[in-house]
Amino acid sequence: MNRIAHMPSHDVLIIGAGLAGQRAALAAANAGASVAIISKVHPVRSHSVAAAGGINAALNPEDSWESHAFDTVKGSDYLGDQDAIEIMCREAPDELLYLEHIGVTFHRSPDGHLGTRAFGGASAARTYYVADITGQAILHVLYEQLMKHHEQLDRYEEWFTTDLLQDEDGRCTGAICRNLRDGRLEVFNAKAVILASGGAGQAFKPTTNGLIVTGDGIAQAYRIGATLMDMEMVQYHPTTLAGNGFLITEGARGEGAWLLNAQGERFMERYAPNKMELASRDVVSRAEQTEINEGRGFPDGTVFLDVTKVPRKRTLEALREIVNIGRDFAGVDITREPIKIRPGMHYIMGGVKTDSDGLTTIPGLYAAGEVACVSVHGGNRLGANSLLDTLIFGRRSGEHAAAQAKAMPMPTTPAATVADVQASIDAIINREPGGRRVAAIKDELGTTMNQYCAVFRDAEGLATGYEIVRRLKQEAPKASIDDHGTVFNQDVIGAIELGYMLDVAETILVAAMERKESRGAQYRTDFPARNDDEWLKHIDISANGADEPKVDYSPVTITRWEPQERTY
Ligand SMILES: Cc1cc2nc3c(=O)[nH]c(=O)nc-3n(C[C@H](O)[C@H](O)[C@H](O)COP(=O)(O)OP(=O)(O)OC[C@H]3O[C@@H](n4cnc5c(N)ncnc54)[C@H](O)[C@@H]3O)c2cc1C
Repeated sequence: MNRIAHMPSHDVLIIGAGLAGQRAALAAANAGASVAIISKVHPVRSHSVAAAGGINAALNPEDSWESHAFDTVKGSDYLGDQDAIEIMCREAPDELLYLEHIGVTFHRSPDGHLGTRAFGGASAARTYYVADITGQAILHVLYEQLMKHHEQLDRYEEWFTTDLLQDEDGRCTGAICRNLRDGRLEVFNAKAVILASGGAGQAFKPTTNGLIVTGDGIAQAYRIGATLMDMEMVQYHPTTLAGNGFLITEGARGEGAWLLNAQGERFMERYAPNKMELASRDVVSRAEQTEINEGRGFPDGTVFLDVTKVPRKRTLEALREIVNIGRDFAGVDITREPIKIRPGMHYIMGGVKTDSDGLTTIPGLYAAGEVACVSVHGGNRLGANSLLDTLIFGRRSGEHAAAQAKAMPMPTTPAATVADVQASIDAIINREPGGRRVAAIKDELGTTMNQYCAVFRDAEGLATGYEIVRRLKQEAPKASIDDHGTVFNQDVIGAIELGYMLDVAETILVAAMERKESRGAQYRTDFPARNDDEWLKHIDISANGADEPKVDYSPVTITRWEPQERTY
């Protein structure tokens, strides 16, 4: 039986220590708040570490934030909220310079200026980068900065948040967390809680996302009544390795790589004659999948990415990680021969609905980063806009939460809630042997989502996917685990995460069935056109206390860019 310890109390509790969480923590600490930051892995192992290609900002004098904003709006297929997009793009240059000043070693050209590379859907080369390890470079520098604030900032590394807490008025007052080292449960009270717990890629198989990206925050917020938005919008990245789903960064096409079908044709000429390989990701992924479906790909369902078009010296300097990935995981020297790739699940545009200060529909609860939906990405995220999103809205959430906390008393938590969580964990540990394995259910979930809710969708497939997910939701609570101990019991965590992924998958399918048009990443073969008259609106999903998600709508904010036909 686990022990329930004392209750740490902080002005601001941040769940997640990727780029969004760390940036929020710095902002809140700088504003004078006491802060706790929690992560289920060591912070620099957060999935932001995998970000490769770079971060967007209209910093060059000949570029403008308006151009960046328009590209983002167009990339979103007009589903992004333009007030939030304006904020993100306007604040991007200062954020980039802040990162530079605190020590991020962005690439510089021989004349000493910050260097840029082109990215998809952008009308100017405005992606700043550190070779192809940009996320790692930023994450480590932010982590150094957190150390400076050790007197007011407590780090809880390898702690797993199981549930968010609410008082009788519905205000979020903290979270319950399990110390992975010894299985101890602890209640964290806070005046404000910021969810920064990342995306949900593991609900799909394959995915470019690591094993820890299991939709925890999205499901936790949904379970206490928060509204989710744009859940149907799941991004398939055009260049992932078949089988394992590893990402070949868009930076490769930014540096000049071509896409070729099995007949050697540069097929993007047919789909995006102006932008070619650097059209938006949804457009390029659909083009590839069309080539594959119509028999012009390779028999293993792939096409070629030809990085040999990039000078070898440049590839070895600016794309060295994907040189390693090609060699180690596909046996291909990308500097000398093309590599087989295909569209693969990469990013979830939807998430916990927030305003531009990170506030969710639950008082006291904020969300920032991939867990959130502001919505700056709408139907399709532009490459290199996610790191920017994490930092801008992480910072804004941290600042806002710190300011709110100043005027509030510290809440307390009813003991019964903790006992409930303890009982549910004990129930997992004590499940009868037999039933399906957690891993088997997860595997079926991932392959189901990848089959029925991928680049092309239709009503029949989505309904089939939904039925399967509903069945898996029945099976999951019976899946037994082997490890009954308390020390780093990843079996228990895996069982809890499976529940989160199933909730997230269910909301994605419900939203995808609901949107009867094609927009951004949602391409319905049964409704192939975009239909602004009926569907220029967000789909909001919430738990209705009943068994199935409830669907609502909310308007898209349009400030200055009326919807147009979208061509590249
Ligand atoms: C391979 C790859 C390459 C990418 N490249 C780029 C790029 O070049 N440019 C770009 O803009 N975007 C890129 N992206 C997207 C971008 O990296 C992510 O969207 C972004 O880093 C997410 O950051 P985050 O802070 O929201 O979440 P994460 O970095 O995923 O952090 C989540 C945090 O939450 C914690 N957490 C989760 N659940 C719990 C729980 N239950 N209890 C406690 N802690 C929890 C985790 O431990 C972690 O600390 C890439 C993505 C991938 C997968």
